[in-house]
Amino acid sequence: MQKDKILVTRSSMPPYEEYIEAIKPLWDSHWLTNMGQYHKELELQLAEYLDVPEISLTVNGHMALELAIQSFDFPEGAEVITTPFTFISTTHAIVRNKLQPVFCDVKEDDGTIDETKIEDLITEKTVAILPVHVYGNVCNVEAIQEIADKYNLKVIYDAAHAFGEKYLGKGIGNYGDVSIFSFHATKVFNTIEGGAVVCKNHERYERLRDLKNFGIRGEELVVAVGANAKMNEFAAIMGLCNLKHIDKAIEARKRICEYYFEEISKIEGIEFYNQRDNATHNYGYFPIKVTDRYPLTRDELYQKLREDNIYTRKYFYPLTADQACFKNKYKDKELMIARKLSKESMVLPLYEGLEEKYQRKIIDIIKNY
Ligand SMILES: *Cc1c(COP(=O)(O)O)cnc(C)c1O
Repeated sequence: MQKDKILVTRSSMPPYEEYIEAIKPLWDSHWLTNMGQYHKELELQLAEYLDVPEISLTVNGHMALELAIQSFDFPEGAEVITTPFTFISTTHAIVRNKLQPVFCDVKEDDGTIDETKIEDLITEKTVAILPVHVYGNVCNVEAIQEIADKYNLKVIYDAAHAFGEKYLGKGIGNYGDVSIFSFHATKVFNTIEGGAVVCKNHERYERLRDLKNFGIRGEELVVAVGANAKMNEFAAIMGLCNLKHIDKAIEARKRICEYYFEEISKIEGIEFYNQRDNATHNYGYFPIKVTDRYPLTRDELYQKLREDNIYTRKYFYPLTADQACFKNKYKDKELMIARKLSKESMVLPLYEGLEEKYQRKIIDIIKNY
């Protein structure tokens, strides 16, 4: 029995001294939040790193998504076609905007929304498509855009898993009308908690600045019913520090993924998700599919690893559409593939600094069945 607890992820952190040095100026300025100097600096550096025109930082990825949706002023009760094979935040952001999620099935090979099934779900109430680049797997952005253009719909990407990825040489955040990222502690790049909305035009940037700060424009002027969703300066500085090391961190993740792939692809009954051609990957997750040709079910393998102190995650189970708060409440067509993937999938421990002996251990446990 393996004594150390191996969690599915571990947050990347800059060297202690580096962060301490970087936050020192805050003790002179006493300027801790309200879109300060470091907030601005991180917006500029991230826009460059992500290869997008402009970004608006937020307190977390969820509020980035909620406010991105709000920025379109869709009529109450309008329908948004989305995927149930995602983190609950995606669906919550739609519902909290008083819109109706309409769940579309996903594709078996990469887990992203099945673009061939979107058109059937469009009604006169549909206003947007909200796909997710799940596990960093790039959606069929061309086909989705074509449908959106044909029916005059907005496309909002939840790119929470796709930090730093490029498709056809362009930052992934350039696709659709708007994309959001999450910088939560467990993501590839973190600001402790944080997120961003990619703004393809400056009007959206200004709209988001209003929405993340109570709609306040001036001392005596409030122009929108905004939230408080600003990123604070400690978080922004964490981001500036982590950004310096991000390429090295992604490189380390890549090596770990390659080792997993090399070893696990020899095991009968375990399958992988595909990535699209012409896309770079950030190695944020290592999902596997435990198919019925493997001697154990996903749940049994999960339990088996757990007995050895190895904590994997059943991402994404249950589907958001099947969660207690949504069950039987919203329209969904057949979610057959999504339910299948949800039953088969699990993500293995993956983080910069995952020791090889632990990785070996995980592989051996999966292998010995
Ligand atoms: C993490 C995540 C979010 C929410 O981001 P937070 O920063 O945790 O608020 C939204 N969507 C997906 C797919 C995520 O994985």
